[in-house]
Amino acid sequence: MSFVCHHLTRTPSLLSSICRAAHSTRIVARGVSSTRIASGEHQEARARPRVVFSGIQPTGTPHLGNLLGALLNWVKLQRDAAPDDQLIYSIVGWHALTLPQDPKALSASRRDMLAVLLAVGLDPKRSVIFHQDENLHHAELAWILNCITPMGKLRRMTTWKSRLAASRNARDDSEVDESLLNVGLFTYPVLQAADILAYRATHVPVGEDQQQHIELCRDLAEGFNRTFKGKKPLFPLPQHVITSSCRVLSLKDPSSKMSKSSPDLNSRILLTDGTSKVRSKIRGAVTDSTLGITYDPEARPGAANLLNILAACTGEDVEAVASRYADKGHGEFKADVADAVEELIKGPRAEFERLRGETAYLASIAEEGAAKARELSASTLREVRTRIGLV
Ligand code: ATP
Ligand code: MG
Repeated sequence: MSFVCHHLTRTPSLLSSICRAAHSTRIVARGVSSTRIASGEHQEARARPRVVFSGIQPTGTPHLGNLLGALLNWVKLQRDAAPDDQLIYSIVGWHALTLPQDPKALSASRRDMLAVLLAVGLDPKRSVIFHQDENLHHAELAWILNCITPMGKLRRMTTWKSRLAASRNARDDSEVDESLLNVGLFTYPVLQAADILAYRATHVPVGEDQQQHIELCRDLAEGFNRTFKGKKPLFPLPQHVITSSCRVLSLKDPSSKMSKSSPDLNSRILLTDGTSKVRSKIRGAVTDSTLGITYDPEARPGAANLLNILAACTGEDVEAVASRYADKGHGEFKADVADAVEELIKGPRAEFERLRGETAYLASIAEEGAAKARELSASTLREVRTRIGLV
């Protein structure tokens, strides 16, 4: 087979640039007891294997926020995992449907996203990599969880508003209202809880925008355990794993996060952007007219966002980066940010371009991944059905 394990042939520079950025990010697991799991310091102390689950929507080409807030953590967790840790990464097609999608574009994005996951360094021999929509257990568990989710709890989720606002290029969430809301978008946090709980995941590395969904997931897990008792509680309460760069902001509107669904392509750096695109987008990033560079997320969100990006790319502390640019002009600063971003993405970009044409290889990876995922979630769903009486 000519397509055996592309990652083993990946260049050391690609791996080292990813590892530098991933290593630099302070990774923290948030739960009832917050646990730092950076640089493997807790691996020996762990009582039981971790089950890591995360997902990304096939809603377009991943951007710098997806990389720094999520995908590079996935790679880091894979690199630092203990041998008995389970790593499960999913392309969540059903979530993409919560906003209107062009079927042709969705189908292409779905395939491309798999190539992206491999290109950033996920290894299908170590991690389960699959399409959510090829494992029906997610939908089955989502329905069951829907039936124990109070409407009031879902109403308190604000993400549907941000997602709608981003997709309509609205200036803020107050510009969207419930008349634009479909039921799928309203209830997608429950589907997300099902994604996680189907594998009884213990750790969920996602960006800061997803924090409220992890809290809902924990509530649902706790509610299920309390209502449907067995010898042991069925679901562990998953912890949110974040990095210090868990919220990268839009380059055009630093009051909102960088998002795949925003119609403004200049608001985000795509993994596929070439050197000159990266430069022009960073040059056009909204900052301010104050002389010199300081790190002040409240008063100078645009400059702070670029400082965060630069620090995340180079693995430095953001305050240290800021002090280096205190007397420098915006032009010089932005040029350095662009160089650092280019350095970070050029390896994965080239690997993605190479892999995306290998359709037979990608199809075989998807098929194997889905089979493994179904096998893993089958026992959870069997137990769920027994506990709720659907047997
Ligand atoms: P969409 O606009 O379609 O929702 P998205 O850019 O929000 O797309 P998702 O597929 O929803 O991307 O999220 C994939 C992962 O990337 C999640 O873990 C999410 O928390 C993280 N993420 C998304 N945007 C950012 C961002 N701007 N900064 C940091 N992390 C992000
Ligand atoms: Mg999103």
